[in-house]
Amino acid sequence: MSNSASFNPRLQSALTHARHGRSVLPVFWATDGHCACAQADCPSPAKHPIPALTPRGVKHATTSSVVIHAWWSHSPLANPALATGDVSRITVLDIDGDRGGYDSLAQLEAQHGPLPHTIRVVTASGEHIYFAYPGTHLKNTTGRFGPGLDMRCCGGYVVTVGATHRSGRTYTWKDGHRPGQAALAKPPAWLHEKQTPRCHPPGRGYASAALASEEQQLPNTPEGQRNQRLNLAAFRLARFISTGALTETDIHNVLFDAAKRLGLSDRETAATIASGIRAGASAIART
Ligand SMILES: [Zn+2]
Repeated sequence: MSNSASFNPRLQSALTHARHGRSVLPVFWATDGHCACAQADCPSPAKHPIPALTPRGVKHATTSSVVIHAWWSHSPLANPALATGDVSRITVLDIDGDRGGYDSLAQLEAQHGPLPHTIRVVTASGEHIYFAYPGTHLKNTTGRFGPGLDMRCCGGYVVTVGATHRSGRTYTWKDGHRPGQAALAKPPAWLHEKQTPRCHPPGRGYASAALASEEQQLPNTPEGQRNQRLNLAAFRLARFISTGALTETDIHNVLFDAAKRLGLSDRETAATIASGIRAGASAIART
């Protein structure tokens, strides 16, 4: 493994992003199709942060080459991931072809015109379309634009080139859309229109961190306890509503998207979050 550092495509990809001012983090990899985290029912195989390296997940994403070298010397097989949003000045539209993402995109393009030429990454089941961060947050969404289309912006991340999917396929720049072949385009207006232009700005410190932490803990909760965990998260976060640090919509949107990524049903999730917030708010009113 003596040469692994210099020729490790995962590390090189991370370093290249960092040189361009884009924050990266290592995420788990797969061995024989299974996530290296060793969780039997890992909800996000070969795609989620490594607690030993980034205890606060994407919040620990960095452009520091020293830190990046240290991460990949600890875990040379770690997949590189790119933090999206203001920290990297990049917003990513994630097309999942297995979930009908290309059909959804074709419909939107028929309605609004084609997407501008920009940088794209080929993933295991679709593409990541990179856009310049538009200056306002585009909320992380799952399926809001149609099945199989997800938006990744502030607080989110995407697995990036050099990574290997658990299927064995590698993430690569799309031909004709590599950096150098395409410039980072602005996202088209219609991607904004469907968005809530605000979310939890980084400045709201503790409340935002608490929200991010609850979002992150959800996938680490055993499957049978997720609904309960979701309720607890909403309950705990409700106290930030009274201080104005978060709105009910902030909490709902973040937890809802996190739950949706885990496959919890929409209706149940919405009810669970609402009841958690209600209980949390009335607990505060009583104190
Ligand atoms: Zn895992």
